[in-house]
Amino acid sequence: MIAEVIKANELTKADPVFGQASFNDHEQIVFCHDKDTGLKAIIGIHNTVLGPALGGTRMWKYANEWEALNDVLRLSRGMTYKSAISGLNLGGGKAVIIGDAKTDKTPEMMVKFGQFIHSLSGKYITAEDVGTTTPDMDIIRDVTPYVTGISEARGGSGNPSPVTAYGVYMGMKAAAKFKFGSDNLAGKKVLVQGTGHVGETLISHLTKEGAIVTVSDINEARMQEMVAKYGATIYTGEDVYSADVDIYAPCALGATINDLTIERIKAKVIAGAANNQLANEEIHGRVLQEKGIAYAPDFLINAGGIINVYAEIVGYDKAEALRKTENIYNTTLEIFTFAEANGITTQQAAMSIAQKRIDDKKKETAK
Ligand code: NAD
Repeated sequence: MIAEVIKANELTKADPVFGQASFNDHEQIVFCHDKDTGLKAIIGIHNTVLGPALGGTRMWKYANEWEALNDVLRLSRGMTYKSAISGLNLGGGKAVIIGDAKTDKTPEMMVKFGQFIHSLSGKYITAEDVGTTTPDMDIIRDVTPYVTGISEARGGSGNPSPVTAYGVYMGMKAAAKFKFGSDNLAGKKVLVQGTGHVGETLISHLTKEGAIVTVSDINEARMQEMVAKYGATIYTGEDVYSADVDIYAPCALGATINDLTIERIKAKVIAGAANNQLANEEIHGRVLQEKGIAYAPDFLINAGGIINVYAEIVGYDKAEALRKTENIYNTTLEIFTFAEANGITTQQAAMSIAQKRIDDKKKETAK
């Protein structure tokens, strides 16, 4: 009977972890469960060559455990490259908690989760992400020092989203400079998809500079707020991807550039905060290149948040974190130039530079 069950499982989902495409050379994956608080979490540690694996905790109502596992693996790998390209001495990791952040999250659950993080002795350091907040990080801080993004009142750097948005804004300006010959966004039509923590601050920078901002969100109230506060316009067409804009800024969830959307995109620049925007890095990166769309790699331009929380580890200095974030402008321009000169996509260019940093460090420590 058992053999039959195993066989059936093999036929449906063989190699559930190491065999997953998203596994992608992870060092360690930790499954955390606590019956009393209902905690079901997965911590993905992708790579620790450059330093401890730092990455936020996402709480999301995943349709099933496969979806949660796939998400944490994709996200933690992304963190490895994000920190590497940003010159931080950090590895890549991420965590997901399965559940609805609005109804399932409790302080007791966060304490338990913090204890699991502590058991890894600093190999993984957490921070906030979608579904978790600065107060959650403060609760985790009660049981472990391996947490960043705690409140300013407790000596932390607070919510990283405004710094992330600033970096996205810098990356967008660099992409505009490359594509349009000027980084001045005044008069440029920008579609911001997702008007949450990052999206709102980005909209504020854009409208201050005179860009014409259209917003799209599944939350009607948030869009109305953007209209009232920043004079944005709500997108009312049938298909947001074929919106007639100069710049598309994905600031909601990942994989919006996929087989179904890519041919419809009219924007000439894509620069946004969402992680893993390309459903398939190779294929969709190449199609964007062929279509002449300047794509600013997400993990490069949304690194402001990690730069900010990293500063908490090495001694927080807001001015220094902002200066490093502003430098995303220069790095993005360098990536565009390097990609063009070598006939590769911007995604490949950014990945190869990040990978080289990891490989060099590995060689150095092996000596
Ligand atoms: P958030 O949860 O505050 O905002 C997300 C917004 O997207 C919400 O308003 C939500 O209603 C909207 N949304 C969800 N699904 C949508 C859809 N299908 N179409 C349109 N809108 C939709 O999140 P955030 O902190 O602003 O982060 C936005 C994105 O940037 C996320 O993908 C996150 O992983 C990424 N990111 C955030 C940070 C950070 O510092 N917060 C850092 C790096 C990357």
